Amino acid sequence: MLKDVDRQVIADLYLSRSGIQFLTELVEKFGSRFGGSEEERRAAEFIEGAFRDAGADRTYREKFTCQGWKRKSTTLTATAPQERKLDCIALPYCPPGEVEAPLVYLGDGHPQVYEDRQEEIEGAVVMVTTATPRFYHRTMHRGEKLGRAIEAGAIGFIWMRGEPGGLPETGSARFGRACEVPAISVSYETGHEILRMNSEAGVRVRIESSNEIYETTSYNVIGELTGSDKPEEVIVVGGHYDGHDISQAAADNGAGVAVALEAMRALVPHKDHLSRTIRFVAFAQEEMGLIGSEHHAEDSDQEKVAFMLNLDGAGRGDRSQLVLQGWPEAVRFFNRLAREIYERDMSVGDSLSLYSDMYPFARRGIPSATFSSKQPGTSAAPRGYGHTYWDSLDKVNERFLQMDASRVARIITRLAALDELPMDRKTPEQMGDIIRELGFDMVLRYEGRSIPGEKEPE
Ligand SMILES: [Zn+2]
Repeated sequence: MLKDVDRQVIADLYLSRSGIQFLTELVEKFGSRFGGSEEERRAAEFIEGAFRDAGADRTYREKFTCQGWKRKSTTLTATAPQERKLDCIALPYCPPGEVEAPLVYLGDGHPQVYEDRQEEIEGAVVMVTTATPRFYHRTMHRGEKLGRAIEAGAIGFIWMRGEPGGLPETGSARFGRACEVPAISVSYETGHEILRMNSEAGVRVRIESSNEIYETTSYNVIGELTGSDKPEEVIVVGGHYDGHDISQAAADNGAGVAVALEAMRALVPHKDHLSRTIRFVAFAQEEMGLIGSEHHAEDSDQEKVAFMLNLDGAGRGDRSQLVLQGWPEAVRFFNRLAREIYERDMSVGDSLSLYSDMYPFARRGIPSATFSSKQPGTSAAPRGYGHTYWDSLDKVNERFLQMDASRVARIITRLAALDELPMDRKTPEQMGDIIRELGFDMVLRYEGRSIPGEKEPE
């Protein structure tokens, strides 16, 4: 019977233009939807209306306050060996202020380098690239490289894009709070311009910044399809709708929200098959440090949430993947599910990440996964155009939105209809163990975040 639902969902979505129309309106009317901005709040109303029009049984917005950040002017000047103005942008949460210091370039920022060169780093401005460190077993997020540099005594931070193209790469410096030191980004080309200036005497740089940190309000947006049999069991499906202020944030993550909305639209006629409640959430303030999802996981009825599927990165390509967040025991189940819905190329695995909206759920022990997709051959830059000026609507392909919406709708149908879900909740202490085993406890410490099951840092 679910096969009939599959067929109708696929047919509905492939013949519908509403996903790309929604996304076009979202980015053209509300711009980047930067966390805490007026555009973000107006986009929240628009998304709630879209959930209502798609046929949600219940819609609402969830308000919270947090530290906001406003981009003002930021300049980078080389002061020695010669004076030269350089292009840069501030990273969100870069505080106002001025520093002038020697520049220390740490390449791809391998963990070892902060110890080996600690004496040079102390009192310096550190420049490090976005590249994954060579000779290391995992990727390193911007937050970790910055945290390690500050821990080693850096008084300024320059995030240099690892690939050419003239694009500085943005991303919040800290999770929901002001950074301790000025933190900016430069393109690969500007980074190399600085490196070419290096003489034996070294390069000195000055960063001057006048950004503003203030208190602001944001809204998570929720649209629910009430379960027909077990309405008190909730499956959360969502992705962030806020974006970085320098772009349209069309792929990251307007596309993910469009996928959620379209999955909902396609499932409304089949509601009888969904025993559990499906809660579609457009999260606010993800880019500023998972603030909206943290708020939702903390303050809503989290004990009812049986599963969380994050859609940050959905709708971007034809190669999809579903990554569990500390539930390797469920990989087999999802592989079987992928075959059942004829998505044999969907890769399924388990790999915990600390950097998107599933993490606030996962760290509380709620079974979680993230679904995303990519075009083949686009892995040269880990983020593609994400977090740059050119994450614009032209990068989003209508067909990929439809394909992922249909995949997500069919995955949810299975999860909502099953008698028992194949994964149990864990305790925060168990999640803490998983995190320590991965060596992520150090990462969280450098980023100033707490470890599940342990006391919050002061
Ligand atoms: Zn994102």
